Amino acid sequence: MNKNGKQYTKTYTPQELKYKLFGKKVCPICLEKMVLMKESEYKGVGRGGMGASYGFAKYNADLYEIRETYYCKKCDKNYTISELIKIKEK
Ligand SMILES: [Zn+2]
Repeated sequence: MNKNGKQYTKTYTPQELKYKLFGKKVCPICLEKMVLMKESEYKGVGRGGMGASYGFAKYNADLYEIRETYYCKKCDKNYTISELIKIKEK
């Protein structure tokens, strides 16, 4: 099988998606607006291409998982979306 390209995946829970679309991205400490940061984490070689998650991928690819965090410049802190949801619920 050919190793063919890179595949990036990002999955959201329904709560995370809701926060991403409608939530106020402000720092829970200082209420400053936060910046969205993206980084990808290498997950090794796996099945890539359309339909990979359904098990009929056609080729192998380098798999990356995208991690999104929100960064507050003032506090120099990073928060993941799930952390922000937890803080909000308190
Ligand atoms: Zn802050």
